[in-house]
Amino acid sequence: MPILWVKTLLQHAAIIAAGLLIGWIYDGPVWGLLAALAVLLGWHISHLYLLERWLGTGDPGPMASGSGPWSQVLARIGAVKERGRRNRRAWMQLVKEIRASTKALPDGGVMLTGDLKIVRCNKAARQMLGLKKKRDRDVRIDNLIRHPEFVAYLESGSTKESVEIPAPGGGDRWLSCRLVPYGMDQKLLLVRDITGSVIMERMRRDFVANASHELRSPLTVITGYLDAMAEDESLPEAWRAPVADMNEQSARMGALIRDLLTLSKLESSESCSRENRVKLGAILAAARRDALLEPQGPRRIELEIGSTADILGEETEIQSIVNNLVTNAVRYTPAEGSVTIGWRTDKKGGYLSVADTGIGIPADEIPRLTERFYRADAGRARQKGGTGLGLAIVKHALKHHDAELEIHSDVGAGSEFVCRFPADRLAVS
Ligand code: ADP
Repeated sequence: MPILWVKTLLQHAAIIAAGLLIGWIYDGPVWGLLAALAVLLGWHISHLYLLERWLGTGDPGPMASGSGPWSQVLARIGAVKERGRRNRRAWMQLVKEIRASTKALPDGGVMLTGDLKIVRCNKAARQMLGLKKKRDRDVRIDNLIRHPEFVAYLESGSTKESVEIPAPGGGDRWLSCRLVPYGMDQKLLLVRDITGSVIMERMRRDFVANASHELRSPLTVITGYLDAMAEDESLPEAWRAPVADMNEQSARMGALIRDLLTLSKLESSESCSRENRVKLGAILAAARRDALLEPQGPRRIELEIGSTADILGEETEIQSIVNNLVTNAVRYTPAEGSVTIGWRTDKKGGYLSVADTGIGIPADEIPRLTERFYRADAGRARQKGGTGLGLAIVKHALKHHDAELEIHSDVGAGSEFVCRFPADRLAVS
């Protein structure tokens, strides 16, 4: 079967030939030719007129069928149009379903442009963040939610972590916000109500703080009596060892309570101010002096101070960081080993490091060391007198100073703990 254009060409040639023939019979072949062309032209124009009207009006019904090749052309255009209509209907249905499901989501979602302007948001986001559909369109999200931590989170451009902020509408509700990039340069702000877990966490912290606080007074009394018994010359010989043991254990319990209280204080406070200048040199020198007093510890403890910069923050917390790291280094390094305490700075920030040539830590244990009560070698650590809270305290105190802890270690070769302080936490004299 010949394809459409060949068929049309043959038809047109036949009509033109017929016109010429009729014109030739009546002695006017040119008139015959012109008449044939006029018929063809009229036929095409009438179909074009129909087609234009049908396309222009968007008439959903089928188009009037044409004749000749036009019947096929029109049928094909009709099929394409019908397919488009069906697709559009399916898309509309899909959009409707997506809208209905985002509306039903308990979590909030705000679509943002690359420069953080609101494009649209779902119902939950409007309720949680107090946004208004029309009023807030095209407004930068940080002009509406001005909590400093939220603004800092947006500025950092971090899309991995989330930020926890009180709900802008008040009412003691807490929200977790996370930015997720999508499309070309758009961002999706996911918002979750975490009030329940914040309350639980607060209760846990309060319980630990209260319990530790309540345990302190009876323990002070017990320790007092045990001290007196240990010093009592008339104590029967059989009691000497048990009393010494009890004294040791009550000292451990005291250290545990002290660390629990320090930790809960650190957990319940926000980032510390930058008003105080903490002189690190003096703290490091004091930590070295104390470490050298440890009878079982390494004999070589070096100080490598490469900077005179101070840290902007809280002195007691910096002291706690240094003491915990140096105590650990001394605790886990034999007498013939060495410990190096260092402080240096560069353009990016300051690096407080405590390195030792001690027992080292297996690589798979390193990520868990800052968890409360996590010990790489629980038996040995307990024997060495640790509470299991030292590195958790270090982590929280560093967080208050916007700093991070890096741990490098090789089993049997030693460990290095590096605290990285950002440049804006340093003051150069
Ligand atoms: P602890 O009071 O038990 O030392 P920490 O929180 O300070 O608790 O440390 C957690 C664990 O990390 C320790 O139990 C120990 O296994 C390991 N650790 C910490 N510092 C060192 C170090 N310098 N060398 C080897 N292991 C260490």
